[in-house]
Amino acid sequence: MAGVLHKAMPNSPKPLTAPLAPDLDFSRNGVPTSQSFDDIYFSVDGGLEEADAVFLKACGLPERWKDKAVFVIGELGFGSGLNFLATWDLWKKTAKPDQHLHFISIEAYPWSAGGLQKALAHFPSLKDLSTELIAAWPGRVKGVHRMHFGNISLTLFHSDIHPALENMDARIDAWFLDGFSPAKNPDMWSDFVFGHMASHSNDGAMVGTFTAAGFVRRGLTKAGFTVTKQEGFGRKRERLEAFYTAQTMPKPVMDTPVIIGGGIAGASIAHWFLRRGITPILIDPHKHLKTAASGNPGGLVMPRLDLQDRPESRFFLSAYLYALRLYESHGHILKKGVLHMAMGHKECDRFQKIIKGAALPAGQMRWVDHEEAQKLFGSTLTKKLGGLYFPCALTLSPIKTVLSLTKPCTHLNVQVSKITKNNNIWTVLDKDGKAIAQTQNLFICNGANILDLIHEDVRFTSGQINWGASAKKPKCSIIAGNYALAFEEGILIGASHTHVGAGENNASSLKNTQDNLQSYNALTNMELNAQSFQTRSSVRVTTKDTLPIAKKSKDGLYILSGLGSRGLMLAPLLGEYLVCKALAEPSPLCKQTQKRFHRKEG
Ligand code: SAM
Repeated sequence: MAGVLHKAMPNSPKPLTAPLAPDLDFSRNGVPTSQSFDDIYFSVDGGLEEADAVFLKACGLPERWKDKAVFVIGELGFGSGLNFLATWDLWKKTAKPDQHLHFISIEAYPWSAGGLQKALAHFPSLKDLSTELIAAWPGRVKGVHRMHFGNISLTLFHSDIHPALENMDARIDAWFLDGFSPAKNPDMWSDFVFGHMASHSNDGAMVGTFTAAGFVRRGLTKAGFTVTKQEGFGRKRERLEAFYTAQTMPKPVMDTPVIIGGGIAGASIAHWFLRRGITPILIDPHKHLKTAASGNPGGLVMPRLDLQDRPESRFFLSAYLYALRLYESHGHILKKGVLHMAMGHKECDRFQKIIKGAALPAGQMRWVDHEEAQKLFGSTLTKKLGGLYFPCALTLSPIKTVLSLTKPCTHLNVQVSKITKNNNIWTVLDKDGKAIAQTQNLFICNGANILDLIHEDVRFTSGQINWGASAKKPKCSIIAGNYALAFEEGILIGASHTHVGAGENNASSLKNTQDNLQSYNALTNMELNAQSFQTRSSVRVTTKDTLPIAKKSKDGLYILSGLGSRGLMLAPLLGEYLVCKALAEPSPLCKQTQKRFHRKEG
C-alpha cells in the first residue's frame, strides 16, 4: 500500500474510484494495526492518555483555545478518529458555546464505519461522541468532507498528504503529527510536509507528536519551527514539541451580511451564518421565498457521478453527502431513495463503470436490474434495462426546506435593481433607486436575475414541471430521461428544457404538460390525465461547462450561481464555502476546486 499513491494530482485524469482501503488487523489486544505499514494506530499503553499527553497538552490545550473565537487544529493521519474524539471531549468540557473549533485531518486510507465502530468500542467514555461521528461518517469516499457537531466542524481530506497540504486553504493553530512511525512512513514526515505546515501556520501555532526522530526535528527546524525535546509517552523515551512564529493575519470585518435571493443558494448561505450566531438580511421579491425552482413543491437531491477523477468530481461527491447530512436535520423530506434508470445500452455501460469505480460505497449506490427496479418503484417499467439505485438520495420539498434553513433571518420583500460600492460599503437599491440595505458583505444569489446586478457568462433554461394526484403513487422517485418524484399529493413530473434569453421565462404550456405526461406514461404504462395536473415553470441558470459559479468576486462581494438543476445538492456546501471565505475560516473546498468555480466575469 505504501508508495502506491501519487505525490501530486496527476495531470491527466484517472478513473474516479474509492480511496485505497487500510489493511487493518485487530489481533493485538484489539489495538488496530496497519499490516502494510506494520505499525499501530494508537498506543498500546493507552490511546486516550496518549492523545492527551502527546497532542492536546503538547499544543497547550485547552488553555490556548480559551480566548479564541475560532481555533483550528490540523492533524496528519485521521485513522480511527481517536485524537479527534479526545479533542471533542475536551472542547465540550472547556469551551464556551459561542466558540468554534475547526478540526482538519488528512487521511489517505479512510476507514469504513464498521472499522471505526470496532476500534472505538474500546473507549466507553467516548461512546456518545463516537456514535455521532459514525452517524455522520462519509465512508470511503474521495474528497474533502465537512461535518458539523454543534460548534465543532470536522473537515476530512480523504487524500494523500501531499496534494492535501498543497491544496488546503486554512490557517492552523495546533498541529497533531500522527503519521505512522517516520522510519516506516517517511512520506508523512518530509520537508515538503513541514514546509507546507509552516505556510499554513497561524502565529504561535504549536506542534505535538509522538516521535523524536532526528530527521523530523531537523526538518521542522529547517521549515522555521522552534523545536524542543520532551519526555516521551509510554514506551517512548522522548518526543518533540514545536511552535511557529508567523505574521498575524488581519481579522475580516463582519457586519450584518446581506443576501440577495432567497432560493436554495441564498438560504444555504443564510443557514451557515445563522449557525455561527450571525443573522443576515435576506432580500427576495417573493413572499414566502417561492423563488425559481426552489419554489417547486418537490425537488431531488442526487449525486453527480463522473467517470474521471477531477477536483470537481470529488467535490460533487462531498457536496452530495454534505447536503444529505444537512437535510436530515433541516430538510423537509418527502421520500428517500431514487432510481436512475439507463435509457440505452451505452448508458448501461457507463453505469457499470461507475459501479466498478465504487466512488460511492455500496450503502450509497448499487446496480439494480429491471426486476428489482420495478419492485423498488412499485410499478411496471416498460424499458427492460437496469439502472442505479441511490437509497439515501432524497425527494425534498424545496419550499419548506428553504423556509426552515432561513429561520430566523430578517426578510425584505423587494426586487433589487442595482448595487453600488462606495468606500468598501455595498448599497442595494430598489427599482426607484432607493437604498434598501448596506453592508460590507454582500452575497448575490438572485438566480435568473443575476445579469441585472453583475456581468457573468451564464445561460438560462426554462423548465416546466407538472404535479397532481395519481391512482398509483410511486414507492420511490425515478429518473429515466425525465424525472418523476414520489410526491405528497401523488406524483410530480418534469422537467422541460427550453433555452431562453436573460429576463425571459417560458410560460407553462399545455404542450409541455402533455410532453411531460406522455414520457411518464411511456415509461410506466400508466395513463395520467393532463386536466388534473397543476403546472409551474421556472428558469435555471447554467454555465457553458455546467460547473457552478462560487466566488468572492470583489472585496466584500460574493456570488453563488450557475447551479442548474442541481441547486439542492450543490448549495449547502457552496454556501458554507462562501461563509468561510467571508469569515476567513478554513475552507471546505480545496484550492483546486475553488479555482474551477471562480469564473472570470463575462
Ligand atoms: N490519529 C489517528 C487516530 O486517532 O486513530 C492515528 C493515525 S495512524 C498512527 C497514521 C495515519 O496516517 C493512518 O491512518 C494512515 O492511513 C495515515 N497515512 C499514512 N500515510 C499517509 C499518506 N501518505 N497520506 C495521508 N495519510 C497517510
